[in-house]
Amino acid sequence: MVDPVDSISACAGCDLRRPLDDMGLCAECAAKLDRDMIRERAWDYSATAFFHYDPKDYETLREKVIAEYGAAYELIASQKDVRKRRKGKKGSRKQ
Ligand SMILES: [Zn+2]
Repeated sequence: MVDPVDSISACAGCDLRRPLDDMGLCAECAAKLDRDMIRERAWDYSATAFFHYDPKDYETLREKVIAEYGAAYELIASQKDVRKRRKGKKGSRKQ
């Protein structure tokens, strides 16, 4: 058994030690990355798009995100390796 506290490491996005998801991101950065994936039309990577929107509504979602948060990337502009990281870490939580 691993103590959950020991498994908390620095967030890949902001470098703060917070509870992380399976991509190594804290909730705040995960939300930013989610919006970045929507900006990039990388729908498969966006939980928001995947779980809450129909493919036909993806463009509407993207327009909404850009209207609300702007067109500039929030996370991947400075963290180009986030997606690579995700690939390398696959299966870490799998049973
Ligand atoms: Zn973070």
